[in-house]
Parts: sequence; C-alpha cells; structure tokens
Amino acid sequence: ATDELNSSFGKGFGETQRVGVELLCVVRALLKKIKRRVMVGDKVLVGSIDWVDRRGMIENVFKRKTEILDPPVANVDHLLVMFSMDQPKLEPFSLTRFLVEAESTGIPLMLALNKSELVEEETLVSWRSRLHRWGYEPIVCSVESKLGLDTLQFNLREQTSVIVGPSGVGKSSLINALRGNQHVLGVAGGDNWSDSILGSKWFEDQRVGEVSTRSGRGKHTTRHVSLLPLTGGGYLADTPGFNQPSLTKVTKQSLAQHFPEIRKMLNASEPAKCTFNDCLHLGERGCLVKGDWERYPYYLQLLDEIKIREEFQ
Ligand code: GDP
Ligand code: ZN
Repeated sequence: ATDELNSSFGKGFGETQRVGVELLCVVRALLKKIKRRVMVGDKVLVGSIDWVDRRGMIENVFKRKTEILDPPVANVDHLLVMFSMDQPKLEPFSLTRFLVEAESTGIPLMLALNKSELVEEETLVSWRSRLHRWGYEPIVCSVESKLGLDTLQFNLREQTSVIVGPSGVGKSSLINALRGNQHVLGVAGGDNWSDSILGSKWFEDQRVGEVSTRSGRGKHTTRHVSLLPLTGGGYLADTPGFNQPSLTKVTKQSLAQHFPEIRKMLNASEPAKCTFNDCLHLGERGCLVKGDWERYPYYLQLLDEIKIREEFQ
C-alpha cells in the first residue's frame, strides 16, 4: 500500500504503509464478476495478506491516471518512442506512424534515436533540425557506445514509461542497460488474467505475466508485458511483440491533432480553427492548414488508410 492509497480512502481507513515486498495475488471474485480488469501498472488494494507465503488478494483497483490497451499498461506517464539511425535505417514514414499512434494516447512522449555511432555527425544534425520542424526534440543515444544514456535515465526517473518502436532498434538493449537489479514490480494478465494468475506458475518461474489480446484476425496471440525497475528510479514496460502501430483509435477527424505541425498552424490563428468544423485540411474553403510542410503527404496517406478502415467497419 502507498500513501496514495491512504489519501484515496481518507484518514479513517486505518493503517497503510509502504511494504516493499512482492506478493503473489489472486483477484477477488467480485472484481472478476464486474469485469474490473487488473492491468500491469495498476495501483491495487491488497487484503487477506499471508506474510509467510507472501500471498494476498486484490480487493480493488484504483482509478487509473492513464490507460493504454496495446500493450495493456495502466498509469503510464511517458511513452518512449525509439528508432535507430541505422540498422534498421531511420524511415520517416514509419517514424510518423509510431509518433501518430503515440500522440493518440494523449500521454506525453519522448523520442530516442539510437545507434547514433553508426552515422556521421552531419546526418545527426540534419535529422535533429528535421525533427525540430516536425515538432520533436529527439534524445540521440547509442546503447552500444553508452552515449546519451544519462539523459534517458534522467528523463525516465520517477516515471512509469512504455518503450515502443520497430524491432531491432535497441529497445531490449536499452532496458538491459538501464535496468536495476530489484524485482519486477508488478505483473498481471490481460483478457484472461484470472486464469493466468491462478492457473499457472508464471509468476514464480518467469516473473512475466501472460497477456492474451484478441488480434485483428480474431485469434488469440500471447504476448508479454512487464514493468522493469530502472537503476535511476522509475519503471519501464518491456513490450516485445507490440511493434506494429495499428492506429485503431485514430479517426479521420482526430488524425490532424496528432501532428504538431497542424496544431501549430491552427494555434497561430485566432480563432484556432478552420471555417468548417469537420475540415480535413484538404484545401477546403477557409482551411488554416497549408500543404507546404514536409509531412503533409504522410498526413494524406494516413488519412486515406483511416478512411478505408472506417468504410469497412
Ligand atoms: P529491439 O528489437 O528493439 O529490442 O532491439 P535489440 O535490443 O534486440 O537490438 C537489436 C540489435 O541492435 C542487437 O544486435 C543489439 O546489440 C544492437 N544494438 C543495440 N543498441 C545498439 C547501438 O547503440 N549501436 C549498435 N551499433 N547496435 C546496437
Ligand atoms: Zn482545415
């Protein structure tokens, strides 16, 4: 239990304390009945604690500050979008897709560009100014050459962050470089969490929770999510398998909000909106968004993609 629990319940709730131990918990039947799911990162009230066997029962789940579903993690403070400068090469459209997906969660994002030692200084400089025009300030790093790791560690401290990015860019390498040697804080299952918590030995054996999510094809795939403590403080969710942004929460109308360039163009005017409320910024009358910026073609491409998806829904 933490101080936050204390304040949620008010003073009369009795003793709560920072316990600092790991408990293997089952979820109270009532919570399952009302379909209150327990997610990685949740703050929970634990009762019926058996201190000897270190077991307990999750009695309640506290209100989440944030929630992302793919991967399922609660109370995320930051999304760390990671790409590499090379191997694989930094591809602007793929990066845009990840940035749009990250922006659509509403959670603040950080952008890290890894494997910086593989490219010339001028390539880094030109990418920096390019990304600055997009509205981002990347943290340039190299896990291999231990460059920029202090900055990342500093930015991740006291936060719960989720790292996302294509495979091969160095996400696991970064986690290994920043990871403390304490135990994994909390793990929980996804859709069939009750089975995974009760029915298997995963917690003791692997310290990783099984998460089943229904994929677009209607099949169950098993993927892992766990929160790993960092040496510099904070937690980073390791999310192998979640490296394809699906943009499922982005609509035709909301897409524009996920481009800082468009937000900037709109905010530069008073009132900060186009003539038509449902303007898609395709050259409509009274549109404040001009087409003379680098990522405008990407905006159009993603808009087409979303249109097609919405038609088939
Ligand atoms: P993930 O798929 O994003 O988790 O990527 P991994 O952490 O598995 O890394 C993919 C490959 O990139 C591995 O062979 C790493 O050793 C390598 N790698 C990670 N960081 C760096 C780096 O800063 N520079 C270089 N050259 N290679 C790196
Ligand atoms: Zn417009």
